Amino acid sequence: EAKRAGGGMIKRYSERSEPRHLDRLTLESDLQHALEREELRLFLQPQVDVDTGRLTGAEALLRWEHPTRGLVSPMHFIPLAEEVGLIIPMGRWVLQTVARQLAHWQQQGLPVVPVAVNISARQFLHQELVEDVRSMLEEHGILPGLLELELTESLMAHNPEVAVQILRELKAMGVRLALDDFGTGYSSLAHLKRFPIDTLKVDQSFMRQVTRDEDDAAIVTATIRMAHSLGLNVVAEGVEQESQRQYLAQQQCDYAQGYYFGKPMPLEAFSALLAGQGDGPNP
Ligand code: C2E
Ligand code: MG
Ligand code: MG
Ligand code: MG
Repeated sequence: EAKRAGGGMIKRYSERSEPRHLDRLTLESDLQHALEREELRLFLQPQVDVDTGRLTGAEALLRWEHPTRGLVSPMHFIPLAEEVGLIIPMGRWVLQTVARQLAHWQQQGLPVVPVAVNISARQFLHQELVEDVRSMLEEHGILPGLLELELTESLMAHNPEVAVQILRELKAMGVRLALDDFGTGYSSLAHLKRFPIDTLKVDQSFMRQVTRDEDDAAIVTATIRMAHSLGLNVVAEGVEQESQRQYLAQQQCDYAQGYYFGKPMPLEAFSALLAGQGDGPNP
């Protein structure tokens, strides 16, 4: 009786955990090859002026086109890449791809907008980040102000001294710095004072109910006011409805990003959008 129960437990254990374990391992080995097999794609999502809807920038978002699983979400593979160190070559690939795209737009005479690139903790603390960014901008002849790096608060909380030093070097180069997912991490107002950032991104979790939930509205409004008092620009993430845009406009939020204005799209589609902006004011 006890033996049967034990056997059953072992069976249940392996049924439940072995496939997941294998899954992780195969995903990891697949990820090892994703770069060389050219399975990574970079998408761009529009950032717009809240008042006019004019295109003012883009955020680069990584996609993995797995041969059998289809598109894998960055929420699944970025943490894995971070854990096994693959985030370093993958992050380089993202920066290179963005630089090449910016150079291409410049050559085509398109009205270029800044592109924001997400940088994860391990990448940020990697010795070569600053030099990688510098050489990449030089190699492609990119104005440093066209590159924005998105960082999170948690990434700076580990070692604020080192973080400040790296941020200063990037800032001195002319690169823009944004604080992503603001309000969700180890928020410290001291970060805002000490870190030489240009932009604060209000996390989309506060936007979802902003027109219905008084607390979310209070947080968003206070964040915008505080950011402006500190001389920072504000981008609201996850804007999906006109009522949210209106709320942001009333609160003097500068920029917005979300499905209401445009989903993340392939580089060619975004280039077409840029070319359209060149024709004159948008209707
Ligand atoms: P994030 O940097 O906060 O990016 C914003 C996420 O919100 C993106 O998810 C975007 O597709 C999604 N989003 C944009 N507008 C809306 C909207 O209106 N509604 C909703 N529900 N979602 C919206 P995505 O592309 O799945 O990326 C998830 C996260 O993965 C990113 O969050 C970022 O932390 C990370 N990530 C993506 N690309 C890279 C990369 O190249 N490098 C690194 N290190 N991390 C990346
Ligand atoms: Mg981001
Ligand atoms: Mg975000
Ligand atoms: Mg405004």
